[in-house]
Amino acid sequence: MLAASAVQQAGPAGAAAEWEDGDGDGDGQLCVVCVDAPKQYGCLHAGTVHLCLCRDCSELFAAGKPCPMCREPIVAVVKVF
Ligand SMILES: [Zn+2]
Ligand SMILES: [Zn+2]
Repeated sequence: MLAASAVQQAGPAGAAAEWEDGDGDGDGQLCVVCVDAPKQYGCLHAGTVHLCLCRDCSELFAAGKPCPMCREPIVAVVKVF
């Protein structure tokens, strides 16, 4: 048998990846700040909501702070179910 050549998976190389697969159960569901807990809160601004924060990190963001995804000023942090 031929040994499998050294094809190594190119892991996420540290750069901020865009998670927009829409699969629903990948890493894209994790909080963008701590990348350790599921997203449950969104930043409301300019008529859109960026769902990107877990409960703990939602407490770090409030009205007037920049959205961690797009830097728009946050109008409110809302819980998303
Ligand atoms: Zn978090
Ligand atoms: Zn945003």
